[in-house]
Amino acid sequence: MNYYPGRAVVDLDAIRDNVTVLRERAPTAQVMAVVKGDAYGHGLVPAARAALRGGATWLGAAQVPEALALRAAGITAPVLTWLYGPGAPLAQVLEAGIDISAPAPWALAEIADAARSTGRTARVHLKVDTGLARGGSFLEDWTAMLTRAVQLQADGVVSVVGVWSHLARADEVDHPSVLEQFDVFAEAVRRAEAAGAALEVRHLANSAATIAVPKVHYDLVRPGIAVYGLSPMPLTHPSPQVGLVPAMRLEADLHVVKDAGPGQGVSYGHTYTTSYPTTLATVPLGYADGIPRRASNVAPVQVAGRQVRIAGRVCMDQFVLDVRDLSVAAGDTAVLFGSGSDGEPTAQDWADAVGGISYEIVTQIGPRVPRVYRGEDA
Ligand SMILES: *Cc1c(COP(=O)(O)O)cnc(C)c1O
Repeated sequence: MNYYPGRAVVDLDAIRDNVTVLRERAPTAQVMAVVKGDAYGHGLVPAARAALRGGATWLGAAQVPEALALRAAGITAPVLTWLYGPGAPLAQVLEAGIDISAPAPWALAEIADAARSTGRTARVHLKVDTGLARGGSFLEDWTAMLTRAVQLQADGVVSVVGVWSHLARADEVDHPSVLEQFDVFAEAVRRAEAAGAALEVRHLANSAATIAVPKVHYDLVRPGIAVYGLSPMPLTHPSPQVGLVPAMRLEADLHVVKDAGPGQGVSYGHTYTTSYPTTLATVPLGYADGIPRRASNVAPVQVAGRQVRIAGRVCMDQFVLDVRDLSVAAGDTAVLFGSGSDGEPTAQDWADAVGGISYEIVTQIGPRVPRVYRGEDA
């Protein structure tokens, strides 16, 4: 049974073309399309394939199961995975030919154990913390990490193929921390090479840096959100200006359409009240589908070619629109967000309305909502 009154329509050609745009932005680097979070809600495997068609040569998956799922689907491109805890099934990661990040000394030890148990040499990307203060070793502890890593390399247990890091404020144009992190990264790379690592890839750039900071592109850039057509810098580098097309359109079939008089409180808590004789229309998607409850009374939705705001609270499975004199009927399509090319709101508009970022809007669309694919690969 795959009937559902709402759907996320994903344009795979947009994903392909967005990657091509990003390649042009970073002509000296390879592109690792980041497909964590179910490809930011777009669907892991179809999105990954579309990104590869656009010229991505690597895929980045935060969680181990995501990386393994790419291989299970038959994708053979290089994959890096980076987020796991002690006791993770690293042997399976190595058996699947997946590159792995070493974010701390304990991880290096577990990678070595997995390599010994499988008889495989682990391809490791050492993570240096250049200032985000999240994963990776600070420069103070970097030499110890390197010493251990090159020992394991000499034993044939690991191969240090990458050094990488992540930026804290690349979305703030010209923020000095970006070049400070670059300097720390350059030093970490220098020390790694001096210690005997033959690095295939040095990588630091997320979408924002891919778009706006060529100096940090190195050998590989790791865009995520931009692959899906949304900009990490909506004010200074809006998607259309960069040439990116939002790939997801979230839509639903209107459920009940009925007349209502003035003074009618709408939805739980009656936080919206009609002020004229009007028409109310229910949209069968709610916070169980990942529609933020914060969208109550603020987020825009397109019906009958026009944008109206959500009326009252978003419920678990539905919300209401006050469509006034628009001509709508049950079964008509409401577009919550899309590419914007037909006058519909974008995920960025939703983020602006709820005080969030476009990343959360698309990533939180739940598994209950079917993904419907469009484009050459669909
Ligand atoms: C999520 C992530 C990215 C991609 O970030 P965007 O801002 O979506 O481009 C790149 N690298 C790492 C380590 C990440 O966690």
